Amino acid sequence: MANASPAKHGDDLEAFIQDMPKGELHVHLEGCLTPELVRTFAERNNLDIPSALSTLDQSGGGYAFNDLTSFLSLYYACQSILQTAEDFQELAFDYLSRAAKQNVVHVEMFFDPQAHTSRGIPFSTVVSGYHAGIQQAYQQYKISASLILCILRDESAGYGMATVLSSLPHKHLIAGIGLDSDERDHPPIEHAAAFARARREGYQLTAHCDIDQQNTLEHIRQCLEVLKVDRIDHGTNIVEDPALIEVLKARNIGLTCCPISNSIVTTTAKFPEILQLLRQGVKVTCNSDDPAYFRGYLFENLLKLAKETDITRKELILLQRNAFEISWKSTSIVHWGKQHPDGVVGWCGAQPGLGVSLASPPTLLRVPRASFFDILKVWQFQT
Ligand SMILES: [Zn+2]
Repeated sequence: MANASPAKHGDDLEAFIQDMPKGELHVHLEGCLTPELVRTFAERNNLDIPSALSTLDQSGGGYAFNDLTSFLSLYYACQSILQTAEDFQELAFDYLSRAAKQNVVHVEMFFDPQAHTSRGIPFSTVVSGYHAGIQQAYQQYKISASLILCILRDESAGYGMATVLSSLPHKHLIAGIGLDSDERDHPPIEHAAAFARARREGYQLTAHCDIDQQNTLEHIRQCLEVLKVDRIDHGTNIVEDPALIEVLKARNIGLTCCPISNSIVTTTAKFPEILQLLRQGVKVTCNSDDPAYFRGYLFENLLKLAKETDITRKELILLQRNAFEISWKSTSIVHWGKQHPDGVVGWCGAQPGLGVSLASPPTLLRVPRASFFDILKVWQFQT
């Protein structure tokens, strides 16, 4: 980490990151459940406060855990207080409000329906509640958001397939299908049938390839060749295999990296690997994963990255451009683009000395029906 001084960015680094319009593609809604929300929902639903909350870290008042196993145990215990559509709505709205205040303009959010249907909560309660939270946040903050249904990989393949099938009546509310939870001894190929069905149904596909897992390169290969994903969550270990990197680049498949999460569930944030991939032209993005547990939303992740590496401001912008480019289209983000003529493009064009310019004037944003993604094509870097 040569030249890893925050001074290289000047005194306005925090303002720069705060003001930059941002996209978040890797955040778990159940990972946005703060201790305060757990207490609120437990009280409202006349449930005991989970004993896991008694392990609150005395210093910061946040959750306390020391490895992936203790994290997952805490994570599922706290979710048990989510009971009604109102709970799910408030959880989504609470997270999106926090994101909007960090100038995040588009979010694609994972949710784990099996963590709730296995407790007897109907699928429709979960998805309708989350969707109501998305609508409420859009009304209040004009932040756009989509849902990604995650299959729990450590549950059976049959349960995963059944979950995809139960999503079909709600397909219009769900952008894609993902794969998460404990990767140990659960290669992606176990859920190949559910992913094939999801693709036939028109869903976009992504899957977690967690950091430093056993057989991680084989898991990444399975995601690319068998599941035929559109992007990969984490996946940073691909840096060890130049041939796989070329496949990723050829197919324009992005990686949703989460530095603070990495630093908590492993021993390192994986900054050198993330930067190497970014500089090799991989569509790398920076994200927060489970912000209520890891105590870092998107702003905090970007700030840590900027302070602890030699990443340039141009590369910080590139991370956001990547996020918008590999995000999955939603009608609301197009609407956002029309509502914010000085938004992403205007902000970048106004940054002095960054070599970021517009190939065409931002008035394109006012063209009726212009796709936000078409608009981004005019956002170019000078070389
Ligand atoms: Zn994740």
